[in-house]
Amino acid sequence: MARDWKEVEHKYYMPCFRRQPMVLVRGEGARVWDDTGKEYLDFVAGWAVDNLGHSHPAIADAVAEQARVLVQTSNQFYTVPQLELAEVLVENSCLDRVFFCNSGAEANEGAVKLARKYGGLRRNGAYEIITAGNSFHGRTLATWSATGKPHEEDPFQPLPVGFVHVPYADLEAVSGATTDRTVAVMLEPVQGEGGVNVPPPDYLKDVRRWCDENGLLLILDEVQTGLGRLGTLFGYEQFDVEPDVMTLAKGLGGGVPIGAFLSKEDAAVLEPGDHGSTFGGNPLACAAATASTRFIIEHGVPENARRMGAVLGKLLTGIMDKHDSVTSVRGVGLLHAVDFASEMSAAVLTACNEAGLLLNAIGPATIRLMPPLTITEREIVTAMDRLNTGIREAAKGLAA
Ligand SMILES: *Cc1c(COP(=O)(O)O)cnc(C)c1O
Repeated sequence: MARDWKEVEHKYYMPCFRRQPMVLVRGEGARVWDDTGKEYLDFVAGWAVDNLGHSHPAIADAVAEQARVLVQTSNQFYTVPQLELAEVLVENSCLDRVFFCNSGAEANEGAVKLARKYGGLRRNGAYEIITAGNSFHGRTLATWSATGKPHEEDPFQPLPVGFVHVPYADLEAVSGATTDRTVAVMLEPVQGEGGVNVPPPDYLKDVRRWCDENGLLLILDEVQTGLGRLGTLFGYEQFDVEPDVMTLAKGLGGGVPIGAFLSKEDAAVLEPGDHGSTFGGNPLACAAATASTRFIIEHGVPENARRMGAVLGKLLTGIMDKHDSVTSVRGVGLLHAVDFASEMSAAVLTACNEAGLLLNAIGPATIRLMPPLTITEREIVTAMDRLNTGIREAAKGLAA
């Protein structure tokens, strides 16, 4: 009999998470197993992190080899994996320079610092950043302040100033909020945590034009959309725009924690002393990220995400047609959401756990699906059978 890990958590861990009841112990590809041996198809993928699935040999080998050679040196010295990763990212994106950190929030913090310095140098001290309602940019004080939610009730007051929230997918709101204090607009190409909100096709292009006309930086938070999630290596490619600054994290390290912010040469205003990190860009994380990113590029993984995303979207539409409780489905690539007519996310998650499918609830009536980008059509079909069962059982349970 396994130990009761729920008891251990209850005794020792900060009660920050509403966890699903199972203890996951192993993963392979799109499947994970719990400590009772039950198998699940994983449509959570570490919160859109495990883009190559679990235990991918390219990543496992890179981590094992690098761990035996050199793990951490500090940024006082050059290291090869860091510079290899920098080259891969810059050569395969529209950006010119990169800085490595350890998470998405940290990547956005770095982008905010860069924008503020840029404002000081080029925009007469402008420092405000326009962000969108329903956005998610992280949980440090500044990135939480940037996150487009009401903050009046936050127990963490006071929050850093300098963020202005406007409705998403509304160019007039951006132009209306622009003042002499504005230095940048920061957006997700498709909003992840906020509901998988896909903007109309011209929105980012229009914002890009507004930024160009007004000397503002366009910062794209691609922490969730980068590295193939939307069906292209980076999300901006879908919308025919180039950001001045882009942040990455989730999918970058194939599960190993690493974040990055990249910028165009013109916006690369940071100098020695402005920014740094003890762990950021260390050889271990960079070896994993290089292996993962190279694999994604060399094996057409974004293309698989695009094709499998079309399959997933079609099957989800079929599920919507079958269940009155499902009111809408939407998504791009392998980032999809399902809305319910009532607050049944929790019941659907429980029923799907039972059926062998892991999902993520992003609201009481909305779930998100974000499987590994290497998923196969067969796995998607199996998962959608299980989702169908889960929704039926959940609706039955709620009606009873
Ligand atoms: C997850 C996420 C973040 C925060 O990343 P952490 O690694 O949890 O700090 C920031 N922005 C977006 C768009 C995200 O999805």
